[in-house]
Amino acid sequence: MNVFVVNCGSSSLKYQLIDAQSEVVLAKGLCERIGIDGSRIVFKPACGKKSGEKITIEAPMPDHTNAIRMVLDCLVNEDYGVIRSLDEIGAIGHRVAHGGEKLASSVLLNDDVVKEIEECCELAPLHNPANLIGIRVCHELMPDVPMAAVFDTAFHQTMPRKAYLYGLPYRYYTDYKIRRYGFHGTSHRYVSQKAAQILGVPYESLKTIVCHLGNGASICAVENGRSVDTSMGFTPVAGLVMGTRCGDIDPAIVEYLTEKEHKDVHEINRILNKESGIYGLSGGLVDFRDIRKGCQEGDEKCLRAMDVFMYNIATRVGAYVAAMNGVDAIVFTAGIGENGDQMRKDICEQYWGYLGIKIDDEKNSLSGEDVVISTPDSKVKVLVIGTNEELMIARETMALVKE
Ligand code: AMP
Repeated sequence: MNVFVVNCGSSSLKYQLIDAQSEVVLAKGLCERIGIDGSRIVFKPACGKKSGEKITIEAPMPDHTNAIRMVLDCLVNEDYGVIRSLDEIGAIGHRVAHGGEKLASSVLLNDDVVKEIEECCELAPLHNPANLIGIRVCHELMPDVPMAAVFDTAFHQTMPRKAYLYGLPYRYYTDYKIRRYGFHGTSHRYVSQKAAQILGVPYESLKTIVCHLGNGASICAVENGRSVDTSMGFTPVAGLVMGTRCGDIDPAIVEYLTEKEHKDVHEINRILNKESGIYGLSGGLVDFRDIRKGCQEGDEKCLRAMDVFMYNIATRVGAYVAAMNGVDAIVFTAGIGENGDQMRKDICEQYWGYLGIKIDDEKNSLSGEDVVISTPDSKVKVLVIGTNEELMIARETMALVKE
């Protein structure tokens, strides 16, 4: 059965069509600038006459209905399409940012679930409304195809109370649902499962720490197949220093800055999300490749950004070793985690000697492969695994549809 995986943003839409049995991607791509001038669709077929090509069509997409229609037209296009008719789509899996506490696992969509997702909009005002648009449009265009929602937050719902409660008046939790939720859950689940598979150890008996280091970054402690703590919090601005997000800061800084900079709290919040992190520390660089190059050239701005980033990762992992009273495997994933070989080596050597970690330089320099980069006598295994949230969404969707 083919699963159509949809990740709908406010002005963009990423999609993949995956054969769920073979787990082969038949096509993938994205629509950009939906509802904005200059919209376009990118379609990459992985089978059929134009396999491996990248087809870009510039066309007006006034709304998401047009965008999804265009994707579906591409999928069945006579020249470059990958299926003969839309009947070959057996299920649709939607990435949904926030499921709150009630939606603690992936679920088949119906009116009640949609209502619950609507209720979570106040917790993820930038993402859930866009996800809901994708759900509504797909239902409108393919009313008979079963659809599932897979939540970024769901994997972390197994966190114990001591990990998810903040030191705030308790009624803020009961009245306003303020707690640590965590994000990137689909990635953390996929990567931790894959680590167990590569190591040949039952998932339920492993203590793993997953470092998802992309533009957004989070770390997750996975004990016996369950998330027990994670670095993002009530929102994805918390935890590690990221591309443009500040990560954990003293909350008193917000009021202090409103006074010093004569800005309101919304503007400070925007700066914490968009102009902080690596970008803020380096004075305007956000791409990790530029930071790495700057570090090689001895650029002070890049060196300080890298120092803070690595220290954040190293110490957070240390906290999770304490949380689980040990660790069997540490995994690097996402854009920076998968490609930052020097950074991985530096963190392991500078900070994790106490864990008995030894890195195999040759394995560490391999790129594009899921690989154990520690030596056989390393006390803790270190791995690099390419994340694949879309495949995880397809798997979860397939499992629900089959039930
Ligand atoms: P993601 O959010 O997972 O797509 O990751 C984006 C980050 O990964 C950006 O900071 C990129 O600079 C970084 N990245 C992507 N490819 C590479 C690469 N080949 N080498 C170093 N960093 C990379």
